[in-house]
Amino acid sequence: MTGSELRERFAASIMPNYGVPQIALTLGRGCEVYDADGRQYLDLIAGIAVSSLGHGHPALVKAVAHQAATLAHTSNLFVNERAVELAERLVSLLGGDAKVFFSNSGTEANEAALKLVKRAAGPGRHYFVAAGHGFHGRTSGSLALTGKDAIREPFGPFGMDVRFVPHGDLDALRDAVDTGCTAVFVEPTQGEAGVVPAPEGYLAGVREICDAAGAAFVLDEIQSGIGRTGSWFAHQEAGVRPDVLTLAKGLGGGLPIGACVGFGRYADAFHKGDHGSTFGGNPVACAAALAVLDTIEEEGLLAHTAVMGDLLAEQLEAIDHPLLAGQRGSGLWRALTLSGPHAAHVQEQAAVRGFLVNAVAPDVIRIAPPLVITPEQIGVFIEALPTVLDAAEAAATKENQS
Ligand SMILES: *Cc1c(COP(=O)(O)O)cnc(C)c1O
Repeated sequence: MTGSELRERFAASIMPNYGVPQIALTLGRGCEVYDADGRQYLDLIAGIAVSSLGHGHPALVKAVAHQAATLAHTSNLFVNERAVELAERLVSLLGGDAKVFFSNSGTEANEAALKLVKRAAGPGRHYFVAAGHGFHGRTSGSLALTGKDAIREPFGPFGMDVRFVPHGDLDALRDAVDTGCTAVFVEPTQGEAGVVPAPEGYLAGVREICDAAGAAFVLDEIQSGIGRTGSWFAHQEAGVRPDVLTLAKGLGGGLPIGACVGFGRYADAFHKGDHGSTFGGNPVACAAALAVLDTIEEEGLLAHTAVMGDLLAEQLEAIDHPLLAGQRGSGLWRALTLSGPHAAHVQEQAAVRGFLVNAVAPDVIRIAPPLVITPEQIGVFIEALPTVLDAAEAAATKENQS
């Protein structure tokens, strides 16, 4: 089946919400993926910061195959050992005094967090605060908290009072949060907004503001968590603990899993029967996540991510090109900012030359490769980047003329 045939069938059978992607992928090995026509790409986006071990990592393959052959599903009517093990591992990485609810995706982790903070809130708390341009998922509760107007507004009203403040602005947050606030939902660095970090001290400030008002601090580390920034969790770099933490993306290394972690009194805020998921904590997904955590430890991938991230930043810094305005981010989670709205052209011209990157905003390219990427692979990309940028500029010029 060729890529163009697959795209036609996609268009005829799959809803148009994604548009029809340009490339059909069929195989992955390490940091390389192959399309339906046999073309090879260096994967610098990892399925949106998900495939942290790359593709086909033997530890993940073995864990998933073994668990699928042993017991693929139990539902939550029964205890399954993998879920218990994974919860214990996460709690230990987070420093204890916590409990976990497993979901199957990021948005469901945030839905769980939303119900958890409502359950834990005292009387008189009736509104939420979240960050402008933030992203928390596509289901109604998470979407209500999502600060991207274009994707939220067509689907409201949501029956929730959500007040948005600018990302990283502690003065605005302080003004917005009083004793009527149930919870503050933020990301440490906004991924979908284009890998936009908050100023130094932001998470500590959020912690202090939430404590002063008695509001819950919910930190969405769905994209930043599990090694992406070179630490297990971004909040550990800030030395700040939230009340509720949500995880997904990189946790399963490609298998669908999410987690909502409650600390302190939030660990036991749900009453029996308050929440559930048929698939949540599925043994195969949990086995995959355990393999991810083991491999990150065994292969020293936190330190590797920090070193590779610095290398990438340093080599990007050395590129002098009129279309490349700057870069930001940390670890293996970077954004290239462009001097014009040509990200779609950069993404396309990169793909033509065998590199998968993501046009996350009109003038921003996101790079979030597998954490196992090598210096050689980074070097190949850096060497090709000026040519990619030239071609993108040429394509943009041609488009403007026609
Ligand atoms: C991707 C993402 C989500 C949503 O996760 P899904 O698995 O797509 O539902 C929520 N929050 C953040 C920060 C994300 O990056």
